[in-house]
This record gives sequence, structure tokens and C-alpha cells, in this order.
Amino acid sequence: MPLRVTFLGTAGAIPTTERNPSGIFVAREGEQLLFDAGEGTQRQLMRFGTGFSISQLFVTHLHGDHVLGIPGLLQTMAFNDREEPLAIHAPHGTRRQLKSLVNALGNRPSFPVRINEVGDGDVAYRADEYEVRAFETDHDARSVGYALVEDDRKGRFDRDRAEELGVPVGPKFSKLHAGESVELEDGTVVDPDQVVGEPRPGRSIVYTGDTRPTTATIEVADEPDLLIHDATFADDRADRAAKTAHSTARQAAEIANRAGADRLALMHLSSRYAGHVGDHLEQAREVFDGEVFLPEDGDELEISYPDA
Ligand SMILES: [Zn+2]
Ligand SMILES: [Zn+2]
Repeated sequence: MPLRVTFLGTAGAIPTTERNPSGIFVAREGEQLLFDAGEGTQRQLMRFGTGFSISQLFVTHLHGDHVLGIPGLLQTMAFNDREEPLAIHAPHGTRRQLKSLVNALGNRPSFPVRINEVGDGDVAYRADEYEVRAFETDHDARSVGYALVEDDRKGRFDRDRAEELGVPVGPKFSKLHAGESVELEDGTVVDPDQVVGEPRPGRSIVYTGDTRPTTATIEVADEPDLLIHDATFADDRADRAAKTAHSTARQAAEIANRAGADRLALMHLSSRYAGHVGDHLEQAREVFDGEVFLPEDGDELEISYPDA
């Protein structure tokens, strides 16, 4: 089942000619999720051909570079005769401000928009095979991060073993795989654990939004396949990162290391580094053994199963 991330905007608070403000698009089996919607997000959706069928928007905090794209995006959805509801998840205490953005200039969207306030540990959204959890971040605004965490998948079904045990190919196979014991014609009972392996972990993506390093980021998901972390600054401005409630690339890498992340995407680059971002990668690689990268707007990433 494909799980794809598209980086719509990777800039910090001020966009550059190369980078849009924050926006992360995630597509999973026909379902489309958006994490933050900085100014210009709708044009990024068009440029990168993702489509507009977003059902859930997860807002990390209400700084302009994460939400000013909402009014334009909703207006275009309305122009396109959207009828499907949109859920917007956002930190506790932001409903009133968010509503004023949703109904900007008195324009109410023609489709239902539901605002869901969330805090640390809440399941913001529960889908069939995964959930999106909110977790605490440390920023100079009411803020949360989000983790998309898939459920464990069934263990592998050992066909050869089942046939050896005399199970006839057919419905008994699916029963066993679904966890039920089956009785054979000669009266033998075959149990699922004889032919089905251990449950296999699903995939997970953690997105911090703007934050200082926090332990909640480490704890929200077990060894995430992808951690998308605030890396606004490099070491040269570590004091600035602390003061403005952001992280350095090195700090992001330390969190990735402790979380056991597979890959680390460094996000929210300060416009001070436009055109010379080498230090971020170098410094992150000094502490993190996994794959580190600095996504450009439009970069796409397929997340494969850990056991694939
Ligand atoms: Zn920001
Ligand atoms: Zn911010």
C-alpha cells in the first residue's frame, strides 16, 4: 500500500524564491492529508500535481508561515464545488483564531469545515489502518506535532507449512490468516500460530512543525521511518534557535538518533541560508547514522515497509 510524502514548502518563517513556507502533503491509498498550509500552498499542490482531495488538515501552530495558505486553499476548493467535509486539527485554544482564517473576510466555505482541537497524546484522527497522534512541542505559540502511525499488519502466512499440515487451499487459509483455528476432515485442529508469523510493524512518519528539541518527539512513535524535524538553523546560530524556539540541524539529528528514526528530513530552513545550506547536512551527519536530507520543494518520498 503506497505511502507517499510530498514536500510542498520547506522554508522557515520567510519564504525565498526557491522555498515556500511550510506544507507537507501525504497520500496513503487514495486518502490525502495535509500538514500545515503556509502561504502559497494551493499553488504548490498544483505545481506538484498532488490533487486537492484533502480530507484532513493538521495544523501545528498558528504562525503565519504555517496557516496563511488556508483561506486561499479553501476558496479554491469552494470554487471547485467541493462538497466533501474538511477536518482541521489544531492545538487547544486556537479554535477562534482558526475560524477567522477559515471564514476570512466573511467568506464562509460552501462545504462543511470541522475544527478539532488537540493536545499532547490525543489521537487527532483515526482511520482504518492508522492513526494520527498529536504530541507536545516547545515553541513560542500554542503548538503540537503530529505522528502518522500505521497499525501492525498481520504476520506472514506460511502456505508451504499449511499445506504440509494438510490444510486444503481455500477458505481455511484465510480463516487461519485472520486468526481463527480450523478443523481438518480427519479431525485435526490447526491453530493460526502454526502457520502465521509474528505481526509486522506498520510505517510511521513524525512531523514536528516548529519546536525546540523535545522528548515527546522521541516517544510518540517507535523507530519512525521518517522524522521531519525543525532545523531552522545550523550551529552558527544555535543561540538564535534557543531564543526563537526552533532547533538546529544537529539537535534535530540528536532527536532522530534517540528516536531510532530511519530517515531525517531537515525542514523550515531560515532564509539566512538561502543558497548555502551545506552545514546543516554536515552537522546532522556528525550525530545521526541514518539517512539525512534537506528536501527541496516538490521532493517526493515513498515510505516502504520496514520489513520490505
Ligand atoms: Zn514556522
Ligand atoms: Zn512558528
